[in-house]
Amino acid sequence: MHRNISEFDRVLRGGQVVTPDGVAEIDVGIADGCIAALGRNLAAASQEIDANGLWVMPGGVDPHCHIEQMSGMGVMNADTFETATLSAAMGGTTSVISFAAQAKGQRLSDTLADYALRAQRGARVDHAFHLSISDPEVDGFDHDLAALIAAGHRSIKVFTTYDIRLDDAQILSVMAAARLHGALVCVHAENHGLIDWTRQALLRAGLTAPKYHAPSHPRMAEVEAVSRMISFAEFMACPVMLFHISTAEGVDLIRAARARGVPVWAETCPHYLFMTEDALDQPGLEGAKWMCSPPQRSEADQAALWEGMDHGAIDLVSSDHAPYRFDESGKLSAGPEADFSQIANGLPGLEPRLPLLFDAMMAQGRGGPESFAALTASVPARLYGLKSKGEIAIGKDADLTLWDPQASTVFGANDLHDNVGYNPWEGTSLRGAVHMVLMRGQVIVQDGACLAQPGQGHWLRREQIGTVTQATPAPEVQLLEASE
Ligand SMILES: [Zn+2]
Repeated sequence: MHRNISEFDRVLRGGQVVTPDGVAEIDVGIADGCIAALGRNLAAASQEIDANGLWVMPGGVDPHCHIEQMSGMGVMNADTFETATLSAAMGGTTSVISFAAQAKGQRLSDTLADYALRAQRGARVDHAFHLSISDPEVDGFDHDLAALIAAGHRSIKVFTTYDIRLDDAQILSVMAAARLHGALVCVHAENHGLIDWTRQALLRAGLTAPKYHAPSHPRMAEVEAVSRMISFAEFMACPVMLFHISTAEGVDLIRAARARGVPVWAETCPHYLFMTEDALDQPGLEGAKWMCSPPQRSEADQAALWEGMDHGAIDLVSSDHAPYRFDESGKLSAGPEADFSQIANGLPGLEPRLPLLFDAMMAQGRGGPESFAALTASVPARLYGLKSKGEIAIGKDADLTLWDPQASTVFGANDLHDNVGYNPWEGTSLRGAVHMVLMRGQVIVQDGACLAQPGQGHWLRREQIGTVTQATPAPEVQLLEASE
């Protein structure tokens, strides 16, 4: 499809463009912030961008990041919307979904209003929210949840562990509401009792260093909770996204569930693909820098996760960006003698997510360009209802990341643009680098500088998740729905 000469604001020429129909050396014509034409020899535009020798990928969609949020342990994230989305843009990500995290006793509508205001002022890239629920007994909960879903907040987060966990009946109630109103339920799925018992036993035995964080989250905790959430999804026919899968057994459970038609999807994160629990084994409290939940696992798990991405058990790779400084404001808030259970969990990941995957999938050939685009942009956009995002196709927002495959980087001690102060990937050498980023047709990263201003990002109203009603619920749920 071609348009007339004056209609393009920008044309990118000569890049290897990764579209839903495959890879082609074509031009991309941009008008009014959208992709207006794809093809050879497009007419001249007022701004021409030379993409020769570059890969043109859809701008990254990171559907799991914690921004300006209080942790379950009461520690505030190091990043504001301004700093987190600066970091996202520099790493080639143009849309993020972070959390509107309900404090206990807080009305859900108040939670959302608070986060929305801060994001509106600070976010440099486009953004949406998961409704993160800690207290479904609060006043007005059912009303607020239905209203917020209808207003375009189409995903909900629940926990099976931590103090903010819901019990099984509460999770089923949330799933029933999500099914009714058309939302996706995202779950942090680890068994609370298995973690609690193991943690206390480790501490009693004097095993308190950061490296014992890994055994304190037994793989069986993931196995049990993933299995239970799959059963709930099957019973309720509610679409469920299983967050941050870390184990081979988790991959197997998801594959088997999907084979029998259960509406479950799953993500993993770079720290499970490229790190093992050995990262935590450092002198003193240094290992705290790599602590996250679930913890990194083994090389065999890494292989299973890659295999799961190849064969449709793992749908996407998010960052789970959870930023805490390595000082008393963050990781060391309980002082220099803290045991592992007193240290905030999480790694910064918004910026390194795409470069790490580009190196693995493009430079090392582990999957190739179409898988890269799918795992990092098009699948998250589709599963979370971001209809204008994630693909280089006519009519979509012109969110484009241009990659130079010839460039190379070695991560340094503190070279990310977030506010964390350390780079957990220090020393990692990568082939390929972000060359330029466009969001809705505007250049937002060029020559290593971010041009996007705080407030430039738009909130993204999401449409009903398309998969909601395709599965059949258990007879008991059908009986209830028939009686409504
Ligand atoms: Zn998370």
